[in-house]
Amino acid sequence: MQLLYVRYLAARPVDEIQCVTQTRRRHRCTNVLLSPGASGGTWRLVPATATSGQLALPAEVMAIYDLSGLPYAEQLRWRAQRCQQHAAAPTAADLAVAAWEPFDPLRHHEHIRTRLPTRARPSGSTGRTHRAVGW
Ligand SMILES: [Zn+2]
Repeated sequence: MQLLYVRYLAARPVDEIQCVTQTRRRHRCTNVLLSPGASGGTWRLVPATATSGQLALPAEVMAIYDLSGLPYAEQLRWRAQRCQQHAAAPTAADLAVAAWEPFDPLRHHEHIRTRLPTRARPSGSTGRTHRAVGW
């Protein structure tokens, strides 16, 4: 996943990334970031390089879920890992830590997919076992 010019490995599939906010009843918010009506990203094939200008082998491409087309505030919402409801409530406490891990093409090689997912927004059973950098 790419947001704010940084590639991250998400802990969950794109459509299962859950809001980290604590609700008034002290439970974790169960909303997902990619809620109906929320603008999502686009799957793209990009060179599987590190961020600092390493040369990639020609065959080394990978699918990423690119959020860089979204407005800045939306990208901040994704990185803060808050649902649309809680993005508007900055005083609400976070119950969990946002689970973004900076993506490393070597360390996270097993999550690299060289083809785009067959559906832009995976739902249902297909793709649920994969993490967001793949499909
Ligand atoms: Zn929430």
